[in-house]
Amino acid sequence: MKAVVYQGAYQVAVEEVDDPRVEAPTDVIVKITTSCICGSDLHMYEGRTGAEPGIVFGHENMGIVTEVGSGVVRVKKGDRVVMPFNVACGFCKNCLAGRTGFCLTVNEGFAGGAYGYVSMGPYKGGQAEYLRVPFADFNCLVLPPGEEHEDDFALLADIFPTGYHATELADVSPGESVCVFGAGPVGLMAAYSAMLRGASRVFVVDRVPDRLRLASQIGATPVDYTQGDAAEQIKAMTQGEGCDKGIDAVGYQATVAAGEEQPAMVLNTLVEAVRPTGMLGVVGLYVPADPGGPNESARNGQLTFAMGRFFEKGQRMGTGQANVKAYNRQLRDMIIAGRAKPSFVVSQHLPLADAPEAYERFDRREEGWTKVLLKPAA
Ligand code: NAD
Ligand code: ZN
Repeated sequence: MKAVVYQGAYQVAVEEVDDPRVEAPTDVIVKITTSCICGSDLHMYEGRTGAEPGIVFGHENMGIVTEVGSGVVRVKKGDRVVMPFNVACGFCKNCLAGRTGFCLTVNEGFAGGAYGYVSMGPYKGGQAEYLRVPFADFNCLVLPPGEEHEDDFALLADIFPTGYHATELADVSPGESVCVFGAGPVGLMAAYSAMLRGASRVFVVDRVPDRLRLASQIGATPVDYTQGDAAEQIKAMTQGEGCDKGIDAVGYQATVAAGEEQPAMVLNTLVEAVRPTGMLGVVGLYVPADPGGPNESARNGQLTFAMGRFFEKGQRMGTGQANVKAYNRQLRDMIIAGRAKPSFVVSQHLPLADAPEAYERFDRREEGWTKVLLKPAA
């Protein structure tokens, strides 16, 4: 089959690879109808990680089940399904507690598993014609048959639940004000989720004009951080107090106005932009320290966090991979009921063959390249 294969920094190619097969009785094989490109893929694409050439990318996958292992009881051949980006067992301590982003079974020694991702286990990605899904009864969310809501449902693999998770980490409650740093797909989904949870006012910080425009379209107040300190701008619009809650959907790759990188800037600005005793939800990626390894750099997670200010303000913070499974069924049902339409972020539908160009343009955050959906079955 054809798949998007990592070749080295800034290079992916569509190559012929082995078809996946049922390896355990609990596996299914899915023919991929949609697999999205994610900001998280860009960390590997830009050569910032230990990803070895040969990895098949793609952790945001949906499609039709074509083959079912003998131990699968619920999912059936022909079912239309979407998979959380997390690969999880469903029976370890963390999975039982709903913390499927931190499954203790699938990827020994690391925190959780994922498809097509460096250090997240041996699972191949779904930017390909077919995907093997382990522990399929647990990991497949069954969708209504047909083609309706394909784009909305595809976003259930990651960014919609991840945005929602950010609001859960920050405990966003009705009537509260929320600032979201980053208007990438994840930040936009966090802002949208804050609205769904009844926030009274949502600020979205970025500098890419069309992303800020999308934030305005859903009723958020755009804040351009190139026009002055974002925390000061937000405080000026909240009687000097700052927001009740704050979300980091940028991570270690924050840039300053000039475009150069300045680690930890977002987190420290967030502490300033949120009122004393407010809560912070951090879903933007911070990578662990890796002395001597490929991640060794000022961006490796050893950042200068303003702990003194955080303490002084009595704030709390939640971090980590989203436990997609904790929310995807509920969010699916909101889509079906017409109460949520996350696909407003989708900008392109492209055949697999166009993946190399799509990676290049999405990586440059080009105008109009917000969320790319690859269509291997097209
Ligand atoms: P993205 O790179 O498209 O979006 C990041 C946005 O942040 C960009 O629009 C950029 O212009 C903006 N930005 C850069 N510097 C900024 C600053 N100083 N202030 C405000 N905005 C700034 O990526 P994405 O797909 O939206 O993902 C965002 C982050 O979330 C990435 O780090 C990704 O790896 C992570 N992520 C985490 C999870 C999880 O489960 N925790 C899941 C998916 C993605
Ligand atoms: Zn993703």
